[in-house]
Amino acid sequence: MPDYRAPLRDMQFAITELAGLERLAALPGYEEVTPDLAEVVLEEAAKLAGEVLAPLNKPGDEQGPSLTKEGVVAADGFAAAYRRFVENGWNGLSADPEYGGQGLPWLIAAAAVEMWNSANMSFALCPLLTAGAMEAIKAHASNELRSRFLPKLVSGAWAGTMNLTEPQAGSDLSAVRTRAVPERDHYRIFGQKIFITWGDHDMAENIVHLVLARLPDAPEGTRGISLFLVPKFLVDPDGSLVGRNDVECASIEHKLGIHASPTCVMSFGEREGATGYLVGRENQGLPHMFTMMNEARQKVGLQGLGIAERAYQAARDHAKERVQGRPVGQRSGDRVTIIHHPDVRRILLTMKSQIEAMRAFGYVLAADIDLAHKHPDPAERDRRQKRVDLLTPVIKGWCTELGVEIASLGLQVHGGMGFIEETGAAQYLRDSRVAPIYEGTTGIQAGDFVSRKLSIDDGAAMAELIEEMRAVEGQLRGSDNTDLPAIRERLAGGIQVLEQATRWVLQTIRRDPNAALAASVNYMMLTGYVCGGWQMGRAALAARARLASGDDEGFCRAKIATARFYAEQILPKANALLSVVESGASTAFAVDEEQF
Ligand SMILES: Cc1cc2nc3c(=O)[nH]c(=O)nc-3n(C[C@H](O)[C@H](O)[C@H](O)COP(=O)(O)OP(=O)(O)OC[C@H]3O[C@@H](n4cnc5c(N)ncnc54)[C@H](O)[C@@H]3O)c2cc1C
Repeated sequence: MPDYRAPLRDMQFAITELAGLERLAALPGYEEVTPDLAEVVLEEAAKLAGEVLAPLNKPGDEQGPSLTKEGVVAADGFAAAYRRFVENGWNGLSADPEYGGQGLPWLIAAAAVEMWNSANMSFALCPLLTAGAMEAIKAHASNELRSRFLPKLVSGAWAGTMNLTEPQAGSDLSAVRTRAVPERDHYRIFGQKIFITWGDHDMAENIVHLVLARLPDAPEGTRGISLFLVPKFLVDPDGSLVGRNDVECASIEHKLGIHASPTCVMSFGEREGATGYLVGRENQGLPHMFTMMNEARQKVGLQGLGIAERAYQAARDHAKERVQGRPVGQRSGDRVTIIHHPDVRRILLTMKSQIEAMRAFGYVLAADIDLAHKHPDPAERDRRQKRVDLLTPVIKGWCTELGVEIASLGLQVHGGMGFIEETGAAQYLRDSRVAPIYEGTTGIQAGDFVSRKLSIDDGAAMAELIEEMRAVEGQLRGSDNTDLPAIRERLAGGIQVLEQATRWVLQTIRRDPNAALAASVNYMMLTGYVCGGWQMGRAALAARARLASGDDEGFCRAKIATARFYAEQILPKANALLSVVESGASTAFAVDEEQF
C-alpha cells in the first residue's frame, strides 16, 4: 500500500520555501494561514487519501460503475468514501466562505488535490468537476442562481459536471449543436453530450450540469454559444428538490483507464426538453467557461503529478524488495535488490527529480493564482494574473505528458510484474493516459501557449519570467557548496535556450504560423523543463540555507543531489528541443496527405 505521508515533507517544503506561504498570510482573508495550519490540513488529507480513497483504487478499477434503470451506480465503496470526503469539508477547501467554503488558499488545496489524485484519480475527478462548476457559477450566474445552487455544491451535497463535448465538437467547440429554446424564465435544452465525467452517479443528492448550447438566433461558431445550468433534479427557489429533469445518462463508455469514473453519454431533452437556466450573458458561453479554465487546467496538471508520485512510490518500494543480480563488478557473494543497479537508480531519480520539479512549479503557480485574486495592489494582481495565464498551458501540458512518462518508467522498474495488473503499476499508466487528452489536449495547450498566451504582449510576460530565472542563476553563483555551481551552469544554459526558442517562436508566428504551431508542443515542453530547472535551482538554494542552520539534514542533502540530477540529466533535454524547434516545420507539410 503506498504511503501518502511520504511526500508530505516535500509538499511542505514546496509550500513554505518555494511558493512562499508566508506572503499569502499577508493577504486579506488568509490571516489565519500559517505553516502549522498547512501541516495539519495536509496530515489530515494524507490520512483520508491513504485510509479511505487509496484502498478503493484497484477494486474501483476492476469493478467500475454500472448503469441501472435508476441511473449510474458508482463502484462499491465510492458513495461512502464520498460521504466521508464531504462530511470532513474537503469539497469546499478553497471555496468562498460566503457560500460555506473554508476559504483556504488554492496553494494548500493544490497539495490536497495532488493527494486525492495520487490515491484515486477516478474518485478525484468528481470534486474536480464540481469545483469547475462552482467557479463558473460564482463568476457568471445571477445572484438568485448562486444562492440556490452554490452552497450545496460547495458542501458537496450536490456534484457538478461540465458538458462541452459532442460527437462533432471536441477540441473545436464552435461545432456545438445542442439547442436551448427560451421558455418564460428558463430554457428547454435539447441535445446529446459525450464523454461527460461523472455525468451521472449516486454519490450526491443532485447533479448540476453546466451545458454549452446554442440559442435559436445565435451566430455561427464560437460567438453563438451560451452556458446553461441544468440540474438533474429540479430545485425550488427555497432549495428543495421537486422532481427529475429531462436529462439522463444514455450509456457509459468502456475505456483504457480511470475505470471507476463514469464517462457518460448524456441525453438532454428526450421528452419535453430539459429545464435549464442561462449562466451569464447570451452567446458568451465560451468566454465564461474560460474564466475557470486556469484552475481546472492546473488541476489536471496536478493529476499528472499525483499519478506520477503514486507510480514512483510503487516503483521505489519494488526496487527495494526485488532481488536480482549482484553489484557491478562482483561475480559472487549475495545477490542484491535492484535499487543497487545503476540503471534502476537512473530511472528512480528520473522519476523523483521530475516529480519534485513539477510539484515546485505547480505549487508556485498555485500561489500566483492566490496572489492574482487577493493581492491588495492592482498592479501586482495584474502581474500575477499574466504569469498564471502564460504558464497554465505549460502546467497542464508538461505535467500531464510527464505523468504518462513517469507512470511508464514506474512500470519498467517492475519488469514483467509491471505488465501484469496485480502490482497496480499498469493501472497507473492506464489512468495517467487521459490527462494529456481532456481539458484541452497537449496540442491544444501548446497552440494556446504560442498563439495567445506568449504572443498577447509580444513576449513581455515571458521576458519577465526569464529575468526572474536569471536572478536565481545569480544566487547559485559563487556558493561554497560543490553542487550549486554545477546546477547554476546547467540552469544558465537552460535559460539561454528558453530565450532563444522564445525569440524564434515570436518571430516565426507572424510570418509562418504553421511552422510556429508545428513547433509548439516541443517549445511548450522545453519551457516546462526550464521552469522545472528554475524551481529545482531555488529548491537547492533553500535546502542549502536550511543545511547551514543545521535543519533537516537528510532531506536537504537529498534535495540538493536531486536538483543536481535534474540539472544534469533532465534539463539538457531543453537543448535538444531547441534544435528541434528551430529546425522549423517545413518538413511537416513536405509530405503530401496521400503519402501518410
Ligand atoms: C475520459 C474522458 C473524460 C472526459 N470528460 C469530459 C467532460 O467531463 N466534459 C466534456 O465536455 N468533455 C470531456 N471529455 C472530452 C475531452 O475534453 C475531449 O476528448 C478533448 O477535448 C479532445 O477532443 P476530441 O476527443 O474530440 O479529439 P479531437 O478534437 O478530435 O482531437 C484529435 C487530435 O487532433 C488534435 N487536434 C484537434 N484540433 C487541433 C488543432 N486545432 N490544433 C492542433 N491539434 C488539434 C488533438 O490534439 C488530438 O491529438 C472527456 C474525454 C475523455 C476521454
